[in-house]
Amino acid sequence: MPMYLNEDQAMLQDSAREFIAGEAPVSHLRALRDENCKDGFRHALWKQFAEMGFTGILISEEDDGLGLGHVEAGIVLEEIGRNLTPSPFLTTSVAGVSALNAGGKALREKYFPGILSGDTVLGLAIEERAKHRPDQIAMAAERSGNGFKLNGKKTFVIHGASADALIVAARTAGSAGDSEGLTLFMVDKDAAGLSTEATRLVDSSVAAAVTFDNVEVDADAVIGEVDQGQDVLDALLHAGRAGSAAELVGVGSGAMDMTVDYLKQRKQFGKLIGEFQALQHRTSHLYSEMEIARAAVMKAQQLLDQGNEGADVMVSVAKAKAGRTTGLAVREGVQMHGGIGMTDEYDIGFYMKRDRALNEFMGDANYHANRVARMHGY
Ligand SMILES: Cc1cc2nc3c(=O)[nH]c(=O)nc-3n(C[C@H](O)[C@H](O)[C@H](O)COP(=O)(O)OP(=O)(O)OC[C@H]3O[C@@H](n4cnc5c(N)ncnc54)[C@H](O)[C@@H]3O)c2cc1C
Repeated sequence: MPMYLNEDQAMLQDSAREFIAGEAPVSHLRALRDENCKDGFRHALWKQFAEMGFTGILISEEDDGLGLGHVEAGIVLEEIGRNLTPSPFLTTSVAGVSALNAGGKALREKYFPGILSGDTVLGLAIEERAKHRPDQIAMAAERSGNGFKLNGKKTFVIHGASADALIVAARTAGSAGDSEGLTLFMVDKDAAGLSTEATRLVDSSVAAAVTFDNVEVDADAVIGEVDQGQDVLDALLHAGRAGSAAELVGVGSGAMDMTVDYLKQRKQFGKLIGEFQALQHRTSHLYSEMEIARAAVMKAQQLLDQGNEGADVMVSVAKAKAGRTTGLAVREGVQMHGGIGMTDEYDIGFYMKRDRALNEFMGDANYHANRVARMHGY
């Protein structure tokens, strides 16, 4: 499969680029941050995402979506990253929809119409620690009557306080570390015993710590099969990791473009600083690294869309490479802006903050590099 966008994908990129840069550039994030926006994103913008058709990219045509793939979702995510646009697109329309696609028709019929119209936001209640460790899920779901009773705590649930429903990973059997015995549930925000505590992250987004105190769900809240939730979780993680890698590439590219612009206009010692070869070497190195990261992400998305079994390792390669490279892009950005890079008036610092939070989302570069090494027997 060629490593470039086809004609339809290039058209999608054009419309996503124009729409997102026009409606929600970095000044949009700055305004939300300054007003201490409760949700960390605008619901009106989420409706506009729906009008553009973006929310249905990974929903099949049979379910009234566009029936497109991870490459197309990644095109939108790269533009979201480039503009630091706060949006539930990654959690809801990419990771959440991928989990529901692996579940039954009844749940798709219940949740997809709201996602398609931009009325529904999903939160992913997966993490239980400060670092991403999905193999250590321990939260309990005990059988109770016709359904299950959930008890435990989840953390770093992005948009969790404003989500209409949560996708919750819990144990119906076994213990932390077992791949068997996981079950994923849809839990509505109004469920008795569910409480959320909002926390603002470094990038001004809002996550929640969620407590489940005897939360009762019916058997039809199960996504996929009881005790066999690993498959659903894998679909969610693959989509979320490839998607966050695509968004990271956008963040890195946005930081790089802003820095290169600055080098072309800032004068020092009577010259544009971009004329100094030392800075040219640094920017060309960064450009090459960004291209490698973008290629790794596209390969992972293509393998996911093909259902290729090599997708799992490539998704981790992509998240690791995008994480390292975007880290480099934002550090170089702040360095090459000099002292002003540290000030709030300039936008480059917002890129550094988003990079930190997005790197942690679904596993940082060290986590994924380690995962790739283990998969290859190291
Ligand atoms: C938290 C903080 C603490 C600081 N503390 C101190 C301090 O204690 N003492 C002090 O003196 N300063 C201090 N500074 C200022 C800081 O060192 C300067 O902002 C920095 O030296 C960049 O200079 P500038 O503002 O002129 O940047 P710019 O001239 O805008 O430079 C932008 C970029 O170009 C690079 N550059 C500039 N000229 C050249 C050149 N000729 N060749 C190659 N590259 C070049 C710079 O290194 C920088 O990466 C501090 C800054 C911050 C943010």
